Amino acid sequence: MSTYYPRYDEIHFALNVWSEMPGLQALPGLEGQSADIVSAVIDEAGRFASQVLAPLDTIGDREGAYIKDGRVCLPEGWGSAYNKFVEAQWNTVHFPEVIGGQGFATPVSVAVSEMFNSANISFSLGLMPFSGVVSLLAAYGTERQKRVYLPALVSGRWTATLAITEPQAGTDLGAIKTKAEKDAAGYRIKGTKCFITYGDHDMAENIVHFVLARGPENVAGVKGLSLYVVSKFEVDDEGEIGSRNDVQCISLEKKIGVRASPTATMAFGDEQGAVGELLGEENRGLAHMFLVLNRARLNIAVFGLASAENAYQAALSYAQERIQGSDRNGRPCAIIEHPDVRRMLQDMRASTDAMRAIAYYTAGVAERAQREPDELLRSMYKKRLDLLTPIAKGWVTENGFLAASTGVQVAGGAGYLEESRASQYFRDARVHTIYEGTTGVQSMDLVLRKVMRDEGESALLLLNSMLQEVLAYQHHDSVRDEVALLSDAIARLKDATEWILGQGDAQRERLEAISAHYLNFWGTVLGAWLLIKGVVASTATESDLSLANAFVDNKKSAMRYFLVHRLMPACSLKDVIVQGASSITCAKF
Ligand SMILES: Cc1cc2nc3c(=O)[nH]c(=O)nc-3n(C[C@H](O)[C@H](O)[C@H](O)COP(=O)(O)OP(=O)(O)OC[C@H]3O[C@@H](n4cnc5c(N)ncnc54)[C@H](O)[C@@H]3O)c2cc1C
Repeated sequence: MSTYYPRYDEIHFALNVWSEMPGLQALPGLEGQSADIVSAVIDEAGRFASQVLAPLDTIGDREGAYIKDGRVCLPEGWGSAYNKFVEAQWNTVHFPEVIGGQGFATPVSVAVSEMFNSANISFSLGLMPFSGVVSLLAAYGTERQKRVYLPALVSGRWTATLAITEPQAGTDLGAIKTKAEKDAAGYRIKGTKCFITYGDHDMAENIVHFVLARGPENVAGVKGLSLYVVSKFEVDDEGEIGSRNDVQCISLEKKIGVRASPTATMAFGDEQGAVGELLGEENRGLAHMFLVLNRARLNIAVFGLASAENAYQAALSYAQERIQGSDRNGRPCAIIEHPDVRRMLQDMRASTDAMRAIAYYTAGVAERAQREPDELLRSMYKKRLDLLTPIAKGWVTENGFLAASTGVQVAGGAGYLEESRASQYFRDARVHTIYEGTTGVQSMDLVLRKVMRDEGESALLLLNSMLQEVLAYQHHDSVRDEVALLSDAIARLKDATEWILGQGDAQRERLEAISAHYLNFWGTVLGAWLLIKGVVASTATESDLSLANAFVDNKKSAMRYFLVHRLMPACSLKDVIVQGASSITCAKF
């Protein structure tokens, strides 16, 4: 049976130091969220994750979601866990109080998600669409839509999907063919959507699909897309469920990972057309979706972090138990004694630390982007969030997968066996770099939109403030050597950024070719900066974090490892970025 140990010490540290919760608690609307209240939520979420969700993780992987007698079923225990999730009101944690939520700050909901995702990725994927669809309804819904759908979705009584992908339209949303026609009932939706997470299941009484489809005017490309609400069961004005709508799951994908998360091909309107309601304005569907993009991508970054944490926990316990070879004195020893195994474990630990740092830092910035009372400051944080989001999504998920792969290596042949924990984490982690925009999409978003379109303003502002902060640490005993390394890396990343800014639109192909390297460079520099910040905070004499000595020592050693083994090699990326495009663009296949 799978186990998960919530890392309370790491999570509290991340909230305090990287999300800067004490500062956030002073912002308007968050005054009531004292450290004690946040702590109680974290403790309870950890218990739910380890006691209710984690025990289902292995069963989920073995049984998977399946279709029986035309119904999509989830593995044993899933329905009951979901009922407990709704009863305990976990879904409401991060929604604003005015719509029935508990109004916790983004970093707190990231902490809860980290634990739920780590305990059971397949289960937590079902919760993923909630934050997006609730925000869309709250922002663009009619009075009726808000009355009918919001309470059921905020509470989690009904679940939701984001139904975007079609066989011919993955990254290229302009190719979407699903069509909405106007009629007396509102709209009739017809088309096929594929890869729809929790498209159908037996856990909740209703499923509300948020469908991106081409509006009645049939405008080509992304400018012709509108958002429609399509409920599995028709719903009256009081929110009572009626007859079945014309929407069916026609098959489930067989996947290498997240097997208990039903990934459905959905037919909308095979008969008379599925009844749908327009959400927001016609032909503004994609523009509306941008409202929830940053949050959705941060959510996936937290899945990447969870995969790394799981893999590290499993690898550590395996390495402590597996006896192989002998130590310096010739005595049989556990493999954790061997330097190369220690290298792998340290790489997993240090990179997981950096992933957590980036995710929680981004969450803190997201909160400031909403709540900073000063308009200029709020706008600066909004731009910073836009810059950080593709880095967090791309870097954390890629490194989450790397950590899971290293976890398989630590376990040797046993890790390669289908039923091993290491193998499940490896298979599960693979998908995070694909959905919600592939790493390629994040990289191009970073270079072409977040840096070029902004003329480098946010990127250079953040780099300069990182440099200033780091230089202020140069007399700090615990980080003196690393300050020099990081200052050099920041200077190189600035050079790479300026080189990118010097390229015109005509060089777009070249920029796309090196964009993944640029994202990787950013993620590594950000991680290094935040790890140094973490060591400075953990060793500060006036610190009231009350950290155990072993915790502080681990923070120092992970930071040192990351700076030497990850940041040093990443510095060469500046030259790769400047010189590397042509060997890609000129390659013949
Ligand atoms: C388990 C799972 C769950 C999913 N859940 C959902 C869901 O709930 N709802 C939903 O709507 N979708 C969902 N998806 C679909 C997911 O969002 C898509 O798989 C993703 O957007 C990529 O599209 P694609 O698979 O068609 O790949 P493609 O678009 O065919 O891309 C293939 C490769 O080409 C690259 N590429 C494509 N276009 C470009 C370009 N212009 N420039 C550079 N590189 C490019 C990509 O980066 C990628 O590496 C899910 C997918 C999976 C695997």
